[in-house]
Amino acid sequence: MGLIFLGASEAQKRTQAPILAQGNIMRLIFLGPPGAGKGTQAAILAQELNIPHISTGDLLRSAIAQKTALGILAQAYLESGELVPDALIMAMMGKRLAEFDALGGWILDGFPRNLSQAQALDRLLQILGQSHPQAVNFNVATESLIARMLQQGRKDDNENLIRRRLEVYQEKTTPLINFYKQRRCLIDIDGNLTPEAVNQSIRAKLSLAVPV
Ligand code: ADP
Repeated sequence: MGLIFLGASEAQKRTQAPILAQGNIMRLIFLGPPGAGKGTQAAILAQELNIPHISTGDLLRSAIAQKTALGILAQAYLESGELVPDALIMAMMGKRLAEFDALGGWILDGFPRNLSQAQALDRLLQILGQSHPQAVNFNVATESLIARMLQQGRKDDNENLIRRRLEVYQEKTTPLINFYKQRRCLIDIDGNLTPEAVNQSIRAKLSLAVPV
């Protein structure tokens, strides 16, 4: 963790002035069960806002493909649908959020995934001198989730793994909805609509102009 924070402060030193001068930096957390369409929406909105889309699932899969130490440690958790230990996730995210492109805002997809990650994210943002993020919660009926995931899922997704990931979401991640609601920074989105309609509804609720 020492190295991570050193990285953060170096990056901060380089960019502190421009960041303080910028208003309206978008820091968004996309919350929702697997299959809710978070990844699709995060990719679209990130491109529209010109901020990075940071997906912990993608970062972990790429670490596994590259056989890094993180990837080797994380692999069994991904294969069983369990959460990767918080310490590994925080090391990965501490490093990623301290990168230059993350200083002007981001969309987090797949993180935080439990209460202790949300609290660790708060501490990390405090260290980075960044304000609280806004959470966007995707609501989709469970039957649609399983159907969607089986239809468009990665080749490693089978129904048992999907069900386990949904259970883990219910147990570990849903408490975050209240965590951000109590802080009055949660937006609820109906994820059952078409991707275009969901994008419009997110923009409307975040008071973002519709792109021309
Ligand atoms: P989804 O299909 O839900 O978008 P992800 O690609 O976000 O799934 O995540 C796939 C797997 O990666 C999870 O089942 C979990 O094992 C691991 N993972 C991703 N993000 C986290 C996190 N923040 N904490 C712990 N494990 C994570």
